[in-house]
Amino acid sequence: MLVCRINRIREILRREKLDAVLLLSSANIRYCCGFTGTDGALLITGDRVVFLTDSRYTSQAELEVDADEIRQYQTKVTGVVGCIAELGVLRVGFESDFVTVALHQKILSEGSSYSFVALGEQLNAVRQVKDDAEIASLEYAAQLNAEAFEAVLPLIVPGVTEQQVSFELECALRRLGGEDKAFDLIVASGERGALPHGVATDKQIQAGELVTIDFGTRYQGYHSDETVTVAVGEVSATLREIYDVVLEAHDLALDALMPSVKASEIDAIARQHIEQKGYGAYFGHGLGHGVGLEIHEMPTLSPRSEAFLTAGMVFTIEPGIYIPAVGGVRIEDTVVMTVDGYRRLTKIPKTFRQLDTI
Ligand code: ZN
Ligand code: ZN
Repeated sequence: MLVCRINRIREILRREKLDAVLLLSSANIRYCCGFTGTDGALLITGDRVVFLTDSRYTSQAELEVDADEIRQYQTKVTGVVGCIAELGVLRVGFESDFVTVALHQKILSEGSSYSFVALGEQLNAVRQVKDDAEIASLEYAAQLNAEAFEAVLPLIVPGVTEQQVSFELECALRRLGGEDKAFDLIVASGERGALPHGVATDKQIQAGELVTIDFGTRYQGYHSDETVTVAVGEVSATLREIYDVVLEAHDLALDALMPSVKASEIDAIARQHIEQKGYGAYFGHGLGHGVGLEIHEMPTLSPRSEAFLTAGMVFTIEPGIYIPAVGGVRIEDTVVMTVDGYRRLTKIPKTFRQLDTI
């Protein structure tokens, strides 16, 4: 299975006339050789895969890593530079979105026989089409979301704080087997719902408010990402209207998913609907993003995206309306593209839900 992934890297090697690709980001290293630790390097040439790490991780690497060779280094820079020199590679591609300028200069100053070639999007794109095992992990993580949410829902009553909801949700996700929270969970109630990234505070949830909950966990390194907005008791006509508009935009975008459609077209379908209803000024972010070993990865669904959506890609659809001093709604599902459309991985129903206040 990992051979396919290494081959995707080797395609870049050929295309860019490189002798090797150096991977330093945990997500790319895990993807290509299975290592789940947080410090290491992977050098992929046309015929060799060498994993390098320090003494803290060598035992773990022997259990996990699928590579031709595992080497131990004293410092990452000298280890990598030594390996590059020994293998006689001259042109080395690297992750320009990940490697800092300082590290780049350090590696270059240690050795002079080779040159570095920045690989940005084309390297990031390698992980965007998921295989069956990856999709199974993503779906399992999404299932944990559904179970945790149902467990916590009865606690969302007037007087409880956003932080209490966030804490209980995080505990439920961990209790069910989630590895960690995918990001700082967002619980934004009432007027705070107008903050697209309103991390939970000590504000008490009140009757008559909408509560936006954006949450996720990880399973085998793969993230879940889902946003649910619920009403605590009866809400105003305006809040109810913006809920309906966001849900319509979400449904229209999903209905338009078909293989090879442009990501920007899907964004436009949701955006135009929100604009036509008069709320265009209140939807400022992109419609969605890829999800995998990282919470935000390729493809991007936004007005500027150049991506075409193809089978195996996993991404979110998450329109929102955020009105200052009024409140907000976001509805987010994670889906996988299939050969004839899409399949929803997140399981929580998104129809309007009004919770009892007693
Ligand atoms: Zn989210
Ligand atoms: Zn998201």
